[in-house]
Amino acid sequence: DSIRQKVDDAVLCVPDFPKPGILFRDIMPIFKQPKLVSNICSAVASHLRESFPHGITAIAGLEARGFLFGPQIAILLDCIFVPIRKLGKLPGATIKASYVKEYGVDTVEIQQGILSPNDTVVIVDDLIATGGTMRAAMEVIEATQAKVIECFVLIELEALEGVKVLPEHCNFVTLLKH
Ligand code: 5GP
Repeated sequence: DSIRQKVDDAVLCVPDFPKPGILFRDIMPIFKQPKLVSNICSAVASHLRESFPHGITAIAGLEARGFLFGPQIAILLDCIFVPIRKLGKLPGATIKASYVKEYGVDTVEIQQGILSPNDTVVIVDDLIATGGTMRAAMEVIEATQAKVIECFVLIELEALEGVKVLPEHCNFVTLLKH
């Protein structure tokens, strides 16, 4: 709970970014407090260990801010880290999923062969807004037949109801609600 409060205090709400009318949550100030970063990652790892005593085989992080926490949590859990990237960044064959944004379509992808049906995966990102990104992330992971056992974010923008666009079987967990 003290971590929750410290994260809440550190996150900066920036009006009209990246465009007018949007209140952007800037999570980067968290990294001015290295102890807090470490405490967040340890707390998430403990929560995952307790929730899934049979083990987690992979943490999948969303580009770009899921990469700030995902690998650290994966190291603590001694499991692999899988990057879910925006279109065109990964070499070799990939699995793709697209989602509609306010202006146009975005695509995320993972490398083919990086996960197998035996994998149990937790998807990590900094924030859920409309939910499109997280839904597409679930799609690419589940396309490998791997099991998504949790989707974890630091902040949920509750008013945007992003959780509603996630599949019903999705186990969604957030540290903070805004
Ligand atoms: P969604 O697809 O849920 O609408 O948007 C979530 C994605 O956009 C996440 O990958 C997240 O990093 C990014 N995002 C959207 N709004 C914000 C925001 O206010 N702050 C931060 N840090 N990321 C955001």
